[in-house]
Amino acid sequence: MYMKKKMKPESLMMSYGYNPEWSEGAVKCPIFQTSTFVFKTAEEGKAFFEIAYGHREKKPREQLGLIYSRLNNPDLEVLENRLTLWDEAEECAVFESGLAAITTALLEFLSPGDLLLHTSPVYGGTDHFIKHVLTKFGIHSISFNASHSEKDILQIIEESGMKDRLGMIYVETPANPTNALFDLDMCARIAKRYSTKERKVCTAVDNTYMGPLWQHPLKHGADLVLYSATKYIGGHSDVIAGACLGSAQNIKRIRTLRTFLGNMAGPWTGWLLMRSLETLKPRMELQASNAMQVAKYLSKHPKVEKVYYLGLIKEKDPQYRIYKKQFLSPGAMVSFDVKGGEKKAFKFLNNLQLIKLAVSLGSTESLAEHPATMTHVDVAPEERKAMSITGKLIRLSVGVENYEDLILDIEEALKKC
Ligand SMILES: *Cc1c(COP(=O)(O)O)cnc(C)c1O
Repeated sequence: MYMKKKMKPESLMMSYGYNPEWSEGAVKCPIFQTSTFVFKTAEEGKAFFEIAYGHREKKPREQLGLIYSRLNNPDLEVLENRLTLWDEAEECAVFESGLAAITTALLEFLSPGDLLLHTSPVYGGTDHFIKHVLTKFGIHSISFNASHSEKDILQIIEESGMKDRLGMIYVETPANPTNALFDLDMCARIAKRYSTKERKVCTAVDNTYMGPLWQHPLKHGADLVLYSATKYIGGHSDVIAGACLGSAQNIKRIRTLRTFLGNMAGPWTGWLLMRSLETLKPRMELQASNAMQVAKYLSKHPKVEKVYYLGLIKEKDPQYRIYKKQFLSPGAMVSFDVKGGEKKAFKFLNNLQLIKLAVSLGSTESLAEHPATMTHVDVAPEERKAMSITGKLIRLSVGVENYEDLILDIEEALKKC
């Protein structure tokens, strides 16, 4: 296995962690559609439970056996092993949705009375959970945005009056939908500053927009990486799923809470994601190169006021430094302002033919949406304004179609504006 570890993830997505001898020689890992697993002996069942419930440590080379599909299932285990390769994480836990992964991580690493510091904006569902659910458990939150310097952020923490209770720094970068960037090394530095021997401040990063190919938060000091696997990892708009990655110690905690919340993914979801992972790299690379062509076209169009895209950040912009050290690609998300506001933006959206008018992102088909009235409608109007989410903003998730056809579709829709 050590030889295989050295190979690139894209070479291992078809085979890693699965042995055809387990399943009649089947080249693909089958769907293990079963709720429970037969023990060879009562002694074996006892040993599995001791480990699963943490009553004793694993002996060297001892494996946790299969018990019950809420705890573990071959489709999830093989998938989790494969997912660790991209981020070079020790362990991974897969969930039935991205929000299930995010909320489980927040619940596990925060306690009543704690303070959560998060970037703004964050995904709508995450925002709702922080403001309306965590508050019920006495967990407070404060936020910072991409215009805040490290000094400003330290001041925000100091002025909160709760700096001794800082439990987690939660980061979403690039921010949705404007692609604003946050410096992960800086976030890890702040977490370290407020950590004590007894209390470590956890840094968690939602890497859905870039991952797992184009940004690797663990390498920049993050403790947990979170994904909506519904997006690039699934990549075909046909499954909802999520993942959390990190050290063996941290993922053990996440997995234990997952067992008791019961929000693990089922075998079907595991199987679909394994199939998706085989084409992850070619899909994402094609999407990124298409996005580059689309962004270039938009940036020259007279009816387009501004394009928000990582590949167009100017060298003198402070964001450029973060982009260069943290991102391996400009990605495949392009937002832009149409001249003339909501009315013109809607005209554009209603006249697209190849690109579909829908939320979500990262899939093979290109999607367009209107953040101000759709994904970000719940954000307070003044916050929306501060983040440049106005009536004229359109968000595009670029797919794997021929880029000339995408540009033709955009060109025709812009003509109607
Ligand atoms: C979609 C999304 C989520 C939520 O994931 P689900 O799979 O829909 O639960 C979280 N964060 C980001 C950035 C997303 O785009």
